[in-house]
Amino acid sequence: MNENKPGYTILIVDDGPENILLLERILSKEYRVISTTHGEEAQFLARKNRPDLIILDVLMPGMDGYQICAHLKSDPETQGIPVIFITAMDQDADEEAGLSLGAVDYLTKPIRSGIARLRIRNQLELKRHRDLLAQLSSQDGLTGIANRRHFDQAIEQEWRRSVRGKNLLSVALIDVDHFKQYNDGYGHQSGDSCLKSLAKAFSKTLDRSTDLVARYGGEEFVCLLADTDLQGALKVGEALRANVESLDIPHDFSPTSPRVTVSIGVATIAPTKTEVPPDSAQLLGIADSCLYKAKQNGRNRVIGKMAQEGAPTRQSPT
Ligand code: GH3
Ligand code: MG
Ligand code: MG
Repeated sequence: MNENKPGYTILIVDDGPENILLLERILSKEYRVISTTHGEEAQFLARKNRPDLIILDVLMPGMDGYQICAHLKSDPETQGIPVIFITAMDQDADEEAGLSLGAVDYLTKPIRSGIARLRIRNQLELKRHRDLLAQLSSQDGLTGIANRRHFDQAIEQEWRRSVRGKNLLSVALIDVDHFKQYNDGYGHQSGDSCLKSLAKAFSKTLDRSTDLVARYGGEEFVCLLADTDLQGALKVGEALRANVESLDIPHDFSPTSPRVTVSIGVATIAPTKTEVPPDSAQLLGIADSCLYKAKQNGRNRVIGKMAQEGAPTRQSPT
């Protein structure tokens, strides 16, 4: 990877335009720099631009740097962004206050450009490693799409969001038809590359930024469809199914079709409870029973169901 990462964005919040100018001079060759002299704008700009690092002045009129930092750290959308405080104060107590609020480093004015540049570079490097680690731990090793862990976290988040926004939430469980025969007939390696092709096709099919497809395990995949009613989810399910069929991957050992096909169970719910962890097992249970029906009814099809108010919390395939 290129050492000078033009992909990095840094947000500078300082009420002194001359400080911003100086920092911009130091940083703008290597990074994209956004700045504001208004502390109140920091949260908004951080949410909007998702910077990789925030450089925060401590002493500002109105909201000071500590308050802004506390806000950033209490917002799930911005809490992962490293913050470096920059201030004229160089008392140990100030430094301690900043670090205890979750800042990763502390720079004192007057800004020494060489040191500032290196400390900022170090923090960006650490952030890159953290991001990479987070990405690897949420990724499926074979297909590169999200893994089940990621899905479990995402559905919890989406569940809460749906309760707040009173939105419908849908899932689609996808299972490859007669995949044991595929492996037995073509070998495990071909099975693996088939799963990779399917994962790619699923990712391409989903077009909303809030949609997520994950490998649920083995030859099963799952899609999380936020703010989607049953009709919409069935449409997505059908598109997923049809796109697999049109990949036209030969399956000479399938009693269902001469090519690889999938069966899909879809379920939709209006989440109303906010308990943690949310009862997403109910939703997945309904999708699973629909998937079972799709298998029974001849495979290569999509079946969906709306969760009933007050339905049993768990439903196992019958
Ligand atoms: P059905 O149509 O009822 O779903 O039949 P099936 O054969 O797909 O279902 P079953 O659950 O009997 O078999 C799933 C097979 O998926 C078992 C295994 O051979 C294969 N499989 C699961 N995970 C992987 C994997 O990571 N790589 C490969 N190559 N095959 C896998
Ligand atoms: Mg299976
Ligand atoms: Mg299967």
